Amino acid sequence: MFIIVGEKLKTALGEKDKLMSRTFPLEKIRNIGIIAHIDAGKTTSTERILYYAGRTYKIGSVDEGTAVMDWMEQERERGITITSAATTCNWREYCINIIDTPGHVDFTAEVERSLRVLDGGVVIFDGVAGVEAQSEAVWHQADKYHVARICFINKMDRTGADFYHTVAMIKERLRANALLIQLPLGGESSFHGIIDLIENKAIVFSNNPDMAPPVEEAIAEGDKAAVASHYQALVEKLAENDDQIMLMYLNGQDIPVPQLKAAIRRLTISSQVVPILCGSALRGKGIQPLLDAIVDYLPSPLDVPPIPASKVKEEGEIICQASDDEPFSALAFKTVSDPFMGRLTYLRVYSGKAKAGAQVLNTSMGQKERLGKLYVMHADHREEVAQADTGSIVATLGLKKTSTGDTLCDAARPALFESIRFSEPVLSMAVEPKSKADRDKLDDVLVKLAVEDPTFKIHNDPETGQTLISGMGELHLEVLLDRMFREFGVKVNVGKPQVAYKETITIPVESEGRFIRQSGGKGQYGHVWLKLEPGERGSGFEFCDKIRSGAIPREFVPPVEAGIKTALQNGALAGYPAIDIKATLYDGSFHEVDSSDLAFKMAASIAVKGGLRKAKPALLEPIMEMEVVTPSQFLGDIVGDLNSRRAHVQSIQSHEDFSSIRCFIPLAETFGFASNLRSLSQGRANHTMQFYRYEQLSANLTERIVTRMGRDR
Ligand code: GDP
Repeated sequence: MFIIVGEKLKTALGEKDKLMSRTFPLEKIRNIGIIAHIDAGKTTSTERILYYAGRTYKIGSVDEGTAVMDWMEQERERGITITSAATTCNWREYCINIIDTPGHVDFTAEVERSLRVLDGGVVIFDGVAGVEAQSEAVWHQADKYHVARICFINKMDRTGADFYHTVAMIKERLRANALLIQLPLGGESSFHGIIDLIENKAIVFSNNPDMAPPVEEAIAEGDKAAVASHYQALVEKLAENDDQIMLMYLNGQDIPVPQLKAAIRRLTISSQVVPILCGSALRGKGIQPLLDAIVDYLPSPLDVPPIPASKVKEEGEIICQASDDEPFSALAFKTVSDPFMGRLTYLRVYSGKAKAGAQVLNTSMGQKERLGKLYVMHADHREEVAQADTGSIVATLGLKKTSTGDTLCDAARPALFESIRFSEPVLSMAVEPKSKADRDKLDDVLVKLAVEDPTFKIHNDPETGQTLISGMGELHLEVLLDRMFREFGVKVNVGKPQVAYKETITIPVESEGRFIRQSGGKGQYGHVWLKLEPGERGSGFEFCDKIRSGAIPREFVPPVEAGIKTALQNGALAGYPAIDIKATLYDGSFHEVDSSDLAFKMAASIAVKGGLRKAKPALLEPIMEMEVVTPSQFLGDIVGDLNSRRAHVQSIQSHEDFSSIRCFIPLAETFGFASNLRSLSQGRANHTMQFYRYEQLSANLTERIVTRMGRDR
């Protein structure tokens, strides 16, 4: 183990470490995420950044399983980054908060919630594989949250690395306005440095970069022509988007470096251009210029528009200005159950200061909370601080009622940020405790894990008595089961993965529900007429109240809605939840004495049950978007296998000896695909997938599933 943490690190770093707890002016803070496809080198790059920024004593290597950021055991074993760990380092008197985002799409919730709190991102690409499907997915998520980006084309030392091809893919597949600010020096095994187009110099890295710092050199004669033409392209692109540069360019003036940098900064922050850098994280080449670019081009919390928050009791918006003098507001973007410390909540402070021990309001829950101790996080090492300023990312202990996506604020100015929305789980498995001791702990542990992860759900099936856990894919559930065992010592037997089918309706119907019991004593009287209509795919459930002229008193409308929701939990075909349905309450009747909430709830439920049966119900199945990358010689066999699994191949692209297949495939057909792929490609192909949407199943497949469900019950 190379990493020295805690006190030892302090001694090792001396003065530099003291800088960590100092307050930084807002313009000197960068909240960034390292975003990439799995295996592109996020972890390695983060490690190198921390190393060159003087935060870690010695470099951890992913391959040796010692990476600082990958602090969860199973991440080390699997060599992938699953949970976003937040860490802080300093470069040129700037404070860089890094949130490590996962690349595996089974963990999109992690990516989504970290993007929500970032101001800027470094997107890492593998210089050989170029832009892969997941980078595309994350890129579009980053667009959604207006995260300014720079790109780092990594692995330039690998055989097959192609800088210009990757740039072309960034332009084509991501439709990004790529701005080359560096060129590689040499390639593959002879990659040794970069050309800095802005400063017009070469930066050469030693083969032993930890011993010898990079050296600046003049541009070699042979490179001058290429540098001149790329510089020209850079200035033209800036001139297209920036009036000041345009004027100087038209006047034939030389543009001073600070002005060039300022223009790149403006255009990067407004997402009009994406600066492109390159290097090899593993060989320690290109990291210092990357740190410079993070500081020079990515936004500070002052550069991004304040996120609007809604007022709590009245209509309207509050703007939480990024300033220490404003009242406190923060978003809880991650919760972790630490077996030793308890519940740790990560906060991004948007305005004011978070103070340890302060009472705050959780506006999402409408409850007061007391902040516990505050920590700046460095992977598995924490640094306690008394307060955290605007723009910081801190973790706090002891919040009991706060979960991911909640807003915390000063009770004197209640504000509510838009919460983070997560996909519904698509896969479930039955779990059964192995022993009585495991049984006693199981529920508690499952609840803890579900609090941390909004895409992990627990469900007790009343008919079979089984506990079902659901998540976003096989790997997602495997990792959680692994954590149950490792962190909490709970052993379980697991059933086969089951697809989380849903049901819906295909035609509109009207349905009556009567719950009337009036024989002696106080009776029950609930009576409703509902219209059930198919909603758009992905719309979930919509309720519409069209009661006019008091057919049903107002107070009974919420119980009707609740009754509908409960009844939709069990569809008419096979008992799967029914979704994408619009329900309109348009008529009914009541009784002065006998009507009650319960009676209307029951009546609504009866109307839904009858209505679902009449409305030609259909089954919906989760469809995944998959990308397979394989040496081209195996292409035919793999496409054949995909076709036999009801996949719809969208495109096949080939580059050099590799091909990438993109397709949509039902989740139910993906079981066993990984091992088939291994044997079809001698272990050389890999695949990634993510949830795309629910689609209707054909009639004969529906029948098969409905019959199977009937048999299992
Ligand atoms: P992540 O999944 O994106 O976090 O990727 P990792 O940092 O775990 O890297 C994936 C693999 O690529 C590891 O085996 C790394 O050693 C390797 N790797 C990372 N950066 C480079 C690089 O610059 N050059 C080469 N040749 N390999 C690299």
